[in-house]
Amino acid sequence: MFNQTNVKLGKVRSVIRELFEYGKKRKAEIGEENVFDFSLGNPSVPAPKEVNEELVKLINDADPVFLHGYTSAQGDLGVRTAIASDLKARFNAPVKADLIYMTCGAAASLCITLNALLNSGEEVITFAPFFPEYSVFTANAGGKLVKVDSEEGTFQPDIEKFKAALNDKTRAVIINSPNNPSGVVYTEQSIKSLCAALEQHERATGNRVFLISDEPYRELVFGEIKVPFVMNYYRDSVVCYSFSKSLSLPGERIGYIAVNADMEDSGELYAGICGAGRALGYVCAPNLFQQLVSKVLGKTADISVYKQNRDTLYNALTEYGYTAIKPDGAFYLFVKALEDDALAFAERAKEFELLVVPADSFGVKGYIRIAYCVSPETVKRSLPAFKALAESYLNK
Ligand code: PLP
Repeated sequence: MFNQTNVKLGKVRSVIRELFEYGKKRKAEIGEENVFDFSLGNPSVPAPKEVNEELVKLINDADPVFLHGYTSAQGDLGVRTAIASDLKARFNAPVKADLIYMTCGAAASLCITLNALLNSGEEVITFAPFFPEYSVFTANAGGKLVKVDSEEGTFQPDIEKFKAALNDKTRAVIINSPNNPSGVVYTEQSIKSLCAALEQHERATGNRVFLISDEPYRELVFGEIKVPFVMNYYRDSVVCYSFSKSLSLPGERIGYIAVNADMEDSGELYAGICGAGRALGYVCAPNLFQQLVSKVLGKTADISVYKQNRDTLYNALTEYGYTAIKPDGAFYLFVKALEDDALAFAERAKEFELLVVPADSFGVKGYIRIAYCVSPETVKRSLPAFKALAESYLNK
């Protein structure tokens, strides 16, 4: 028989995909402009102009055999060197080109890292709400995902609950800030407390726990908010990065893994990463896009559009009676459903042609996620529907 775990995984669509498919059908029925689709985290602003300019230059000027050819399994050395210099310049981070591994986006970065770190039965802690694929990636690497609640109200990591979850089987922690789906950026204090708890656990038990920072939204922050660079706070850390959101290139599948150069046995973990990449067949990320990203490091798509959408939605929804977390980053608004059952609430929202994701699959009940990576016009036109939805509950 076939591998039933994977057959099952292939048959069950995620809630988000399900909603996206529903949206396509509904748009065909009543017209695209009449459906307010906030289901998918697909960037709505184009890649910065430098991306096209550099792509054209590469296609016209680079040796085509090189450009479309295999690179080293771990990625082109020139590209890795450029990324290491950029991270050093921006964050003064302990990084080295020979501890960077190029990947097809954050999903591949996470899968490789988890396969490199985990032995069968080991646990990975993450904070709810979290990206649902963490469960799939961890299980596939032989581990078990353990969910720890965040602090009520702020959605910062709950350090006391975290300490209680650490045990002899804990091998890694995944954090994601700016966060999908809450939009919350973990404060420096949160990161420091988390790292202190890990160090204390290691001193008390001798167990090393690795910190994996999943960072596809690192540059998507509004105002003066600082996203602490985890490598500067914890030695046993690995950054899983993706250019999908910062450069609006999700379909091109490009990202990287960076192992902290201050880690005692960084070379050994990097060998495990190369081995996991090899075993999974995740080698030689697309060279055209490896070269491209190395030319536009530090550039981002125009995130002012996301800020505008955040402000419009947050201000309007709170005025209509919703409770929401004001997000400092990413492009998601996390809103308390107006009834206990977020699934039922999201179903009711459909009656107003609003497609929002119930947060149950993100590990938190009673909330919905609004992916506001849509045009500002769509956001503005959706407001009467959000108002009517609120009124359908509040005027009862
Ligand atoms: N991690 C988080 C938190 C995400 O939101 C996503 C995508 O939405 C990913 C990882 C996967 O990113 P990528 O498209 O780079 O594989």
